Amino acid sequence: MTALRRTKIVATLGPATDKPGVLDAIIKGGVDVVRLNFSHGDVNDHIELAKTVAKLAKQHGKQVGILADLQGPKIRIARFKEGSVILEQDQQFVLDAGFDSHEGDAQQVGIDYKQLVDDVHPDDTLLLDDGRIVLTVERVEGQRIICRIIVGGVLSNNKGINRQGGGLSAAALTDKDKADIKVAVEMKADYIAVSFPRSAEDIHYARHLINDAGGRAGIIAKIERAEAIEVIDEIIEASDAVMVARGDLGVEIGDAALPPIQKKIITRARQLNRAVITATQMMESMIENAIPTRAEVFDIANAVLDGTDAVMLSGETAVGKHPLKVIEAVDRICLQAEQQREIRVSRHRIDSHFESRGEAISMGAMYLANHLDVKAIAALTQSGSTPLWMSRISSGIPIFALTPTEETGRKVTLYRGVYPVHFEPGEVDHLGLNKGAIDMLQTSGVVNKGDIVILTKGNYKTKGSTDMLKLVRVGE
Ligand code: PGA
Ligand code: MN
Repeated sequence: MTALRRTKIVATLGPATDKPGVLDAIIKGGVDVVRLNFSHGDVNDHIELAKTVAKLAKQHGKQVGILADLQGPKIRIARFKEGSVILEQDQQFVLDAGFDSHEGDAQQVGIDYKQLVDDVHPDDTLLLDDGRIVLTVERVEGQRIICRIIVGGVLSNNKGINRQGGGLSAAALTDKDKADIKVAVEMKADYIAVSFPRSAEDIHYARHLINDAGGRAGIIAKIERAEAIEVIDEIIEASDAVMVARGDLGVEIGDAALPPIQKKIITRARQLNRAVITATQMMESMIENAIPTRAEVFDIANAVLDGTDAVMLSGETAVGKHPLKVIEAVDRICLQAEQQREIRVSRHRIDSHFESRGEAISMGAMYLANHLDVKAIAALTQSGSTPLWMSRISSGIPIFALTPTEETGRKVTLYRGVYPVHFEPGEVDHLGLNKGAIDMLQTSGVVNKGDIVILTKGNYKTKGSTDMLKLVRVGE
């Protein structure tokens, strides 16, 4: 058996993956979770795409998770008469909440978010288009924010506005997001990503809306505001997973502050039993080129060494020229990075207290897995909690999540080192169940006669009941 990649790949869909055969190829090539970006496109297209993904995954005998990414309150300028303008350094430029939203020119442009005039103050630095254009606020006059251009360049329609240091007050869930949550629930998205949350309350509110719509999606908090960093533990605990959203976050806190923050967020997420995705510009140059830069190779590998569950591709797969080559490159870089010894052992939670029997069994299983010649872990699970706990521990041993529940199978697609296996226990006694589980792994070719497998289970019909751990030798 070739090594299984432990790090998961999240790929954003877009025009490039709409081309014939591309979606099929990248799913076959190793995409674990697809991201539907609700900032773009029509909701009906997203619904159709989710169906297509499910169909293709089934054809390849795979589980592919679906992540619906909400647009959030991205603050944007309105539009220009000519589509774009060139801003000259040292000139004045006005953001005008009262201005016609299609009539912008090199002196002024409208803004969608009218409240911006109350949120900014003289001497604030505003960053447009992911920081490519820099303005300082000179003064605010009624609806008009009068700025000086510090770094000029081409500025086109609907580009984003960030303030250095953060602090723009827009609520995390817009009316569009609330409508999109209903769509995401309807399409049975496995994860819903909340953009620009400021606090745990934003996540609780999103969960309330998802539950109200009858959904059970996991929530991913995108960490992309400076103020989210200050309450990072609360946000992680309120969520099922977090995303290191380096694009917007880097604009707010400065690019140089990103590397240590990425490491901190990944470490905290693992400690708090949550999954974590590292996102944005990981393979940016491959939007155009067929091979990554050395720096990009290192970026992916370093995220793996930091302990991320998943790496995410944005434009690289959504609009790039080589979506499949990107997946192939990420796949091989992750596989090699995972061979480094320091991430295959763990000093995790040596001093901590376990919250439940399930967590204790999971930690016990990982201690054995890392200190005995074990081939695989078979975690019989209803809810997916056991494999999540297990995968918080660094290890080189694959964790197979054996579950009869399709939803659980798709949820674990995000967890590092966890592989879903559809398994119907039937009405069997303990011995029969153990044999059924091991046979399943043997038929899939992941274990062979004589291998030692760690099996964990509980009362298999009940969620959260894992209380048994057994060492099984295949074939005995
Ligand atoms: P986005 O989020 O791609 O939706 O902007 C990710 C980021 O900001 O890095
Ligand atoms: Mn973002």
